[in-house]
Amino acid sequence: MPILTVRQFPDPVLRQRSQDVDPSDPSLKALVADLFDTMYAAEGVGLAANQVGLAIRLAVIDTTGGRDPEARLVLLNPQIIAVDGEVEEEEGCLSFAGLRAKTRRGESAKVRAVGLDGQPFEIEASGLLGKALQHEVDHLNGRLWIDHLPLAQQALLSGKLKQMRRDAAKA
Ligand code: ZN
Repeated sequence: MPILTVRQFPDPVLRQRSQDVDPSDPSLKALVADLFDTMYAAEGVGLAANQVGLAIRLAVIDTTGGRDPEARLVLLNPQIIAVDGEVEEEEGCLSFAGLRAKTRRGESAKVRAVGLDGQPFEIEASGLLGKALQHEVDHLNGRLWIDHLPLAQQALLSGKLKQMRRDAAKA
């Protein structure tokens, strides 16, 4: 399976609002397999299609790092329908290689999506999975984890983000 290139901040595709997918599209299966392989290779727990340059509403999540096949979650056209509570915990993103910071999130989230089998479902979770759900649906809406940083954390990261912008401008 090919490992896809994960787009790095500030690639404009990361700020794009992704378009709905047709769950019956037969090409989605192979793409989903590639997304999982790419995510595992990068040791991430979630990956959105626009992180590999495709602005479509598709994301994958596995908080077990591939250890539990049952934990593989495919989200087509996902929407957050409820967020409860608030937590501030370390978070990173595969599109910001090497960066981590305390990020403000809902403690739990409920998401409605369609599975690869074409069936709609809802999932509600807290902890790492709850954060991953919010993080990946955000990606599909063009929102990034740095949008959720408390001010002090934004200040800490601002130098690194400027450097990433400069490096991208040079490339
Ligand atoms: Zn991310």
